[in-house]
Amino acid sequence: MDSRIYQLHLIAGKKAGEERTCGSKNAFETEENAQKASDAHNKWKERRHDVEPYPCAFCHKWHIGNIMPVEVLELFAEDGLYEALGEVVNAACLNEWVKIPNDAFDGLQPIKAGTDRLWEMVHRLRSGEPG
Ligand SMILES: [Zn+2]
Repeated sequence: MDSRIYQLHLIAGKKAGEERTCGSKNAFETEENAQKASDAHNKWKERRHDVEPYPCAFCHKWHIGNIMPVEVLELFAEDGLYEALGEVVNAACLNEWVKIPNDAFDGLQPIKAGTDRLWEMVHRLRSGEPG
């Protein structure tokens, strides 16, 4: 894994919290082992979604979880933005919300709208103007 992506995973994982990032998930000693488990899962017909390996900021091993596009990782890594969005969007749905086309961004997915526009939305909602 690219070292920049690796760092982004660590930051995003910390923000998502130990429960969701590490918790009771299977831990793999190496990226290679996590990759094998992930490949096996992605061939399984009854899977609900594809997964990928990610490094864990808590136990320092590897887990597998939902695929996180780089845009999402970057959004989570932007200073304070994830926390701010968590105040105005249900935090448990944030991972999904950022991928759903949104009228507030002319029908763009929030992750494609760019962090400037996301900040604008946060400020507007915080000030109580209709969204
Ligand atoms: Zn862990």
